[in-house]
Amino acid sequence: MFDYHVHTSFSADSKMPMDTACQTAIEAGVKEIAFTEHMDYFYPNCDLTFEFDYGEYSGMVDLLRGRYGSRLTIRKAVEIGIHPYTYLQSKKFTDTNEFDFIIGSVHIADNLDLHNGDYFKGKSLKEALETYFITINTYVKEYQDFNVLGHLTLIKRYLHYVNSHWEKVDWSLYYEIIEDTFKALIQTSRGIEVNLSGYRYRIDSPLPNLPFIQLYKEAGGEIITVGTDAHSRHFVGKHLEIGYSLLKKAGFEYITSFEQRKPTFHKLTDSI
Ligand SMILES: [Zn+2]
Ligand SMILES: [Zn+2]
Repeated sequence: MFDYHVHTSFSADSKMPMDTACQTAIEAGVKEIAFTEHMDYFYPNCDLTFEFDYGEYSGMVDLLRGRYGSRLTIRKAVEIGIHPYTYLQSKKFTDTNEFDFIIGSVHIADNLDLHNGDYFKGKSLKEALETYFITINTYVKEYQDFNVLGHLTLIKRYLHYVNSHWEKVDWSLYYEIIEDTFKALIQTSRGIEVNLSGYRYRIDSPLPNLPFIQLYKEAGGEIITVGTDAHSRHFVGKHLEIGYSLLKKAGFEYITSFEQRKPTFHKLTDSI
């Protein structure tokens, strides 16, 4: 199995030592892990600083490759927080450092944080969803220096801020803009991820779920990764099989891994 979205103590919101993540991954049957630490140069109204020192990070990965290399492939990766204020800075960071894999994620929309609820203040459910998907669409077209778009439907985790729940939403209202986003990704050899953090947040849904994965497939999408978005050892390698079965249901025969930002496609078999 491939866990392609894991945070360790190099991310401001995780305390997990990278060594612990490696051990847990091996125990869980993960054969390849990507440490996708946060790099969000613009994150308003937050005490945490989502930045890390590449040299220290890279040195730790090298050390752990030496320790676990025969049992676990470790990829150097990053989760870039996409925002127009920081396009140049983010691109410089990934251009001047070596990464196998880059996730591009939108954590801030309308210049406001989704996680702390600021984004939702004064917005109806419809306004919140519309602005969110239009923002992602714009950013994906403007900023291309990543391999997969992170957690497309992250907003699902925060709909309690507008007294709603993802199961009550008619998501088909947004298929048109999302389809356009998928096409922009596909045309530039980028893909999407299936993010399993929804299970940690008790919304019991992958981000995105099956209808979106099918929409991506129908648009011609091939590049797709699956990751837990674990921030602690309890979630490393968890629920990955749910992600793989979703891929199969959507008609995918392959899952993607990355080395030096180049994709490799692995047949989805029962043993993967
Ligand atoms: Zn994220
Ligand atoms: Zn993440």
